[in-house]
Amino acid sequence: MSRNAHADALIAFLNASPTPFHAVQTAADRLSALGAVQLDEKDAWSLKPGQTAFVTRNGSSLVAFRLPADVSRPKFRIAAAHTDSPCLKLKPRSPEPSANYRQWGVEVYGGVLYNSWLDRDLGVAGRVTRMDGGAIRSSLVRNEGKPFRIPQLAIHLDRGVNESGLILNAQRHLQPVLGLVGSGGQGPGGQGPGGQGPLGALAGGRTLEGWLEETLGAPFGSLTFELHLYDTSPAGYGGFDDEFIFSGRLDNLAMSHAALEAFCAEGAGPGSASGAAGTIQVAALFDNEEVGSTSAQGANSNLIQAVLERCLLALGRTREEIMAAMARSHIVSADMAHAIHPNYPEKHEPYHYPLINHGPVIKANASMRYATNAETSALFRGLCAKAAVPFQDFVNRTDLACGTTIGPHVAAALGIPTVDVGNPMLSMHSAREMCGSEDHGMMIRTLREFFRE
Ligand SMILES: [Zn+2]
Repeated sequence: MSRNAHADALIAFLNASPTPFHAVQTAADRLSALGAVQLDEKDAWSLKPGQTAFVTRNGSSLVAFRLPADVSRPKFRIAAAHTDSPCLKLKPRSPEPSANYRQWGVEVYGGVLYNSWLDRDLGVAGRVTRMDGGAIRSSLVRNEGKPFRIPQLAIHLDRGVNESGLILNAQRHLQPVLGLVGSGGQGPGGQGPGGQGPLGALAGGRTLEGWLEETLGAPFGSLTFELHLYDTSPAGYGGFDDEFIFSGRLDNLAMSHAALEAFCAEGAGPGSASGAAGTIQVAALFDNEEVGSTSAQGANSNLIQAVLERCLLALGRTREEIMAAMARSHIVSADMAHAIHPNYPEKHEPYHYPLINHGPVIKANASMRYATNAETSALFRGLCAKAAVPFQDFVNRTDLACGTTIGPHVAAALGIPTVDVGNPMLSMHSAREMCGSEDHGMMIRTLREFFRE
């Protein structure tokens, strides 16, 4: 086990991407550097065989595609993942101070493990928007400091916590602190009741409102935002032999990165498009999987269908030909999987538990919480064989409810056979997760084989 270039690239991607908006910007920059054309959904598209292009929607979902030289009998090979991760999102306005602390309310986004956000040095990042001359203008922001923290109650004030477990109320106990009322030269008495201007009561002290005003050059009252808290500890290797990667957002930036890397690698060589005749390579990264995928940019939206149809319409294909191309297509839905936990082996199906650094996991579920069937599983096993990569089968314990992915959504919307796969990890949905440093390259190599089909 050791450090390797694929894991290095993943770590860089994770550190550049505290939110889905940043992940899509990072991916778009990478695609543009390779010469891919950014298309606008609002304009008509003109495309040529051999071209690589991408579309973003809401700044948080992205679909990239590469057209082959021969488009006489097209088919799609789609690697799909999601850009969002469970997190805490700031509410629009701050509450009144409590016990001289300045605080900010948060909402819970997705299936957050609450305890994992306690006692971490938290940064804030996301998208800030304002109206500018009748146009909507959005900017990405990121505070590089450690402005937020959710302090855990001392054990002396909660003596039973180790025996009874930690129970946190999302409204009361997850509210982070971001400073003291008195900081910046103002005494505790200076904070009046609500209704004061954002900078008024706290004049002189550094505030979130002031930081946003400085960064955007506009009054706080004119700004709307989607700001996420994130763990400022950088992603990096872990374990005595660097077997692991420790980071936030591995679910599912790891598979977003794998799909993107495989896509970019296939277009990097001479002659560009490396797929078989007619293969349109597609990397699709969707926001909002963690809250059910139903949004204008989620896997339940028309995003993927619109992009696939429009890329063939731009090549002069008829609707009949587009439907036939869909029927010739395949999807690999890549989302992280549960590795067996050494301290809780009983939580896993005793004959279908994935091991870290033992290769991609093929996920199946009788209730179709995963889209895999025998045929798509066989297809993926074949890809692993071509890539000389081992694979692992996963099914949940029969007495535990199964998670899900974007796979069933996209499969149902497009009617395209789909396999759900992912790399094994621990601490899924924690603010700080872990996975294997060897698995990442294995998934990328397998997805590259998929794009060559
Ligand atoms: Zn996921």
